[in-house]
Parts: sequence; C-alpha cells; structure tokens
Amino acid sequence: MLQITQAPTSPVLINQRFSILGVASVSSAGMTLTLIVDGTFRTTGPEVRNNGTWQVDFLFTAAGNRRLRIEVAGDSTEIVIPVVTSLPQAQRLRITQIPARLPVLQSTTIEGDAENYPDGTILQLRSDRQFELARPPVLNGRWRSTVGFNQPGRRVIEIRTLDGSQSAAAEIDVVAVTPPRPRVSFVNPPRQVREETVITLEGNAENYQDGDQLILRADQTQELARPRVQGGKWQANTLFRQPGNRLIEIIGSEQDRAQTIIEVQAAPPNSFQILARSSWTSEPTPASLPNLTPRRITLHHTALASSPGASSTQAQDAARMRLIWNSHVNGNGWSDIGYHFIIMQSGRVFSARSELKRGAHDLVNDGLGIAFDGIYSAATINQKQFDAAVALCTVLCRRYGIKNTVTPVPTPTADFGTRNLPLILGHRDRVNTECPGTEGGRTIRMPEIRTAVNGQLN
Ligand SMILES: [Zn+2]
Repeated sequence: MLQITQAPTSPVLINQRFSILGVASVSSAGMTLTLIVDGTFRTTGPEVRNNGTWQVDFLFTAAGNRRLRIEVAGDSTEIVIPVVTSLPQAQRLRITQIPARLPVLQSTTIEGDAENYPDGTILQLRSDRQFELARPPVLNGRWRSTVGFNQPGRRVIEIRTLDGSQSAAAEIDVVAVTPPRPRVSFVNPPRQVREETVITLEGNAENYQDGDQLILRADQTQELARPRVQGGKWQANTLFRQPGNRLIEIIGSEQDRAQTIIEVQAAPPNSFQILARSSWTSEPTPASLPNLTPRRITLHHTALASSPGASSTQAQDAARMRLIWNSHVNGNGWSDIGYHFIIMQSGRVFSARSELKRGAHDLVNDGLGIAFDGIYSAATINQKQFDAAVALCTVLCRRYGIKNTVTPVPTPTADFGTRNLPLILGHRDRVNTECPGTEGGRTIRMPEIRTAVNGQLN
C-alpha cells in the first residue's frame, strides 16, 4: 500500500520547492523511497517514518507536465505535476464608472476593468443579484454597457462572470424625476364688473400643453367657460347675471387652481327708452308698405342743419321729428320718414317708420335704418347719441336675432355688388353717397358702436 495524501493542486514554478505527503504500510517503516522522474531519472527519496507516513520535498528545473513516480517495497504511485515558468495572472473584475444617482428613464454608461480576461469573454451585468441588464464582452481588459431604469430605488449593480465565480458590485440610486408643476393663474382680473356685461378673463397656464382644457367657474358650482390653453395662456369671455361678490376659479386639475373675487355691480336702472311714434305724430306708417324682416342695421345722418342740440326739450325734439317727416314726405315724395329710428342730439330716440315695414334709406332696404339727427361730415356725434345708439342697436339686435355685429359677412349693396360688411353698416357702404358722414363711419363712431353692441350681445 502506497498513497499520496497531499500534493500541489495548481501549477508550480520552475525551481519552486513543493512537498508531497503520503502514507505507506507500517511494514515499510525505515525503508527508503525511490523517486522516478518522467520514467527515466531515478533518485533516492526519504525514509518511511515509523508510523508509515512519508514526505517528499522536491523541485523541478524544467517546465512541462512532469511525472513523478514513487516506489517502496514493491508498491508504487504516480503523480503529474504541471510546472510552469510563470504563474497565470490573477483575473479580477471591477466597476470603475457608475453614477451615484440616475434619474428614472435616463440611460447611463457603466464600465469597469476585466483584468487578465481574454478579449471577447462575455460577462454579465445584473441588478439586485437577479435581473440581467446586459452581457458586455471584454475588450482590452475593459467592459462597458449602457443601462437605464424605469423605477426609482436603490440598485445593487453587479458585473460577474457567467459562472458567477468572479464578481464586483456597486450601488446606484435611481431617482424619480419630478415633472414641472402645472400652474394656472389669473392675469389682471377685474375687481369690479357690471352685470350683463361681457368681460374677458385671462391668465397663464404654465406647464400645460396647447389645447389642454381648463374650467372657469363661479361660486364653486357654476361653470362659466372651458377655455383651452394656447401658448401657456388662457382666455375666456363671460358675463354675470347677478350682482354680488363672486368667487371665480380657473381650474386646471384637482391640484391646480387659482381664485379671484370679482364684485359684480348691478347695472344702472335702465333709462333707455324708445319714444313712440305717437309722441310726435298721430299719422301712422301707411299699412300698404311692404313688410320687413330686419336682417341688418344701416346707420345714417339726417343731413339736415339746425338740430335742436344736446340740451333740447322733448317738445323741441318732437317738432324736429315733424320737420324731418315733412322733408321726406312732402319734399322727397315718400310715404313716410325713410328711417325706422332717429337719435336726437339730446340722446332721445324716436320711433319713425314702423319697424314692421320696409324702409326707404339705403336702396336695398333689407334692414332697419337709424339716423343721427344732424350733419356729421365733419362733426362727431356726442356721447349721448353714442350711448343711445349702442343701447338702441343692442335692443334691436336682441329683438331680431342678430348675434354678431363685428364680423363681416357677404352683403348685397346697391352700387358695389356683394361686399363683406358687418351687420351694422353705414349707408355709404351700400350706396355711392356721403351718408353718414365720413368713410368708415368715423364721425358717427361706427366701429366703436359695433364693438360695444357685440360686447353686450355676447
Ligand atoms: Zn343715409
């Protein structure tokens, strides 16, 4: 019996002394071992100890897989020892670059060393000791990989060999990204408004997308409008029908709203009235005239001098109405005053021709004719006339379903074919005439009248 109990398990260097331990039968005690190298070189070894154990101390002077045969008393055993000129370098993995923090859904490059690994060796990059992220190959002793995470949290990142025999680890903190906070606000909200008056509310809508819908609300219950965001701003037209303090909110979401308080003031008592035809004449509009369904309003001046003026009495204004009637009926040979209403410089509004009958004022005559008394080729109507015109036109538009007095629409004219004109227009827009004064109705403030009426309507 002869057995080796301990020998080198890895290659040994040339000239590196190593030991082989073994055991022989006790009957061999005191006998000398014979060593045979590579089957040819024989030498004497140590003696077997009294308890049967033995120890050979040896070294090789040449590299290769060297065979060592040990013999004693007819027994033998053999071992092959790899002998090398230099030991293989230790392999080592390391993570050399990894960010401490990484926002969710952002990618980053993690890289490191793979010392003494041959090019092309496939490594495994994984997180939390279980999830494979990538299989980077080794190149020039380095590895690298681009990774990203879609959930926040602290991650253990590990680079390892496929068999798991070598590894290195580091931690990365994946952090949630806070999106920019949306924020709605009012910009210069009015503190006071009149009831039944259209106002425009506006504001900012930071970090909203174009087209996002907001809600404009009053008193936490009444929806006023649903403005859409455009370029980070919102705007809405609205009106209030009840006086009092109103809590107005612009709402982007449950978490994002802005508030303002607007005091809605009662409209002044309505002093506007249309004086009936009976206030200046007992003569009716002839019933034989064709009926009218008004589609628009044409503004005129009477072009008659010597108006009674802004502080005239109602009696003076009534006398003026009779003078105009006389001029149209007996002077022009018409069956009645051509206009449906006349606005005196006092601000009084008189009903002239019945608004149920077609007028004689702009040749097309598919609408109502309103004349400012006086000549406005150079002079401008006074404020009372302006206010009366706005009030009268508003009443008439509501009465006849005219909803927009500013947007031009195709309109038949007497002298210019079809033109694009708003539903409140001037005589000269349809007929080659100077009435109601200047181009564009500047002296009768026509653009302002259109806008003011439109505001009242919408
Ligand atoms: Zn006219």
